[in-house]
Amino acid sequence: MKHLINIYFNDNLKSIETFLKTKKLLEQKGFEVCTDFNKKAELNICIGGDGSFIRGVHGSDFSSIPFVGVNTGTLGFFQEINFEHIEKFIDDYINKKYFVEKMRLLECEMRTKDIVFSDKCLNEFVIKSNNSEIIHLEIYIDGNLLETFAGDGLIISTPSGSTAYNMSAGGSIMYPTLKGYQLTPLAPIFSKVYRSISNSIVIPNTSVLKIVPIEDSHKKISFIKDGIENEYKDISYFEFKKSKTMLYKLIFNENWYWINMRDKFL
Ligand code: NAP
Repeated sequence: MKHLINIYFNDNLKSIETFLKTKKLLEQKGFEVCTDFNKKAELNICIGGDGSFIRGVHGSDFSSIPFVGVNTGTLGFFQEINFEHIEKFIDDYINKKYFVEKMRLLECEMRTKDIVFSDKCLNEFVIKSNNSEIIHLEIYIDGNLLETFAGDGLIISTPSGSTAYNMSAGGSIMYPTLKGYQLTPLAPIFSKVYRSISNSIVIPNTSVLKIVPIEDSHKKISFIKDGIENEYKDISYFEFKKSKTMLYKLIFNENWYWINMRDKFL
């Protein structure tokens, strides 16, 4: 039976060219390539930038089949492999010359007057006002009221997502395998009227973070998952905790995270 590999790619010309090259090389080595997610595959390759990696992960419904990112995008923080190194990547993959990075996802349960649903993210969840008004949110950690936040909103980020929106908002960089997640305020107000912690807080994986909007219940709130935005009203609470689902990413250079950090950000 042929070994199957899923390839997800975006529609820019460089990605299509990279897909055709990767497909040809994999087929020469006896693999079969699927462009629709196949549950029987042994590897998921995402070609493009981080957006493509994120969409590949979501499209597979957070599959436990390992992922590899091939960069044709603008930043490509998740994408270790470049166009010039595809042959070497395939050889290293066949010869099992790689490490497996386990990325912990974050889960959110949201309850409104009418629905309860839960969802996962790779980078972050964001809670924001859906207009230019201040949002007021009670923040509880393990049932303890920490503060009543006032400001633009909150980012709840995974370690892997810490270099994305979280970092732009002044949050810390967390190594992807660290066991925790991060709460980062967006423009928190600190005055005689409102008191909000202005630093980001790293929360252990064993803790549950609950956020309760204290708005007029008919006011809509934006809830953003890895860049995908929806608006809800009548929200009773959001509850965040580590997900039981792990994402597996193959790494070909053990020191890649720090090299990547330097090369992509400095
Ligand atoms: P996008 O708005 O097209 O791209 C956002 C930028 O963030 C891109 O340069 C993307 O890299 C980069 N990025 C995504 N995940 C990253 C990560 N884990 N570490 C470092 N950089 C990362 O949207 P998108 O490509 O669909 O990505 C969605 C993400 O955008 C969200 O999850 C959020 O983190 C981020 N975002 C950031 C800001 C901000 O920094 N102010 C605001 C809104 C959303 P590529 O160029 O390789 O795609």
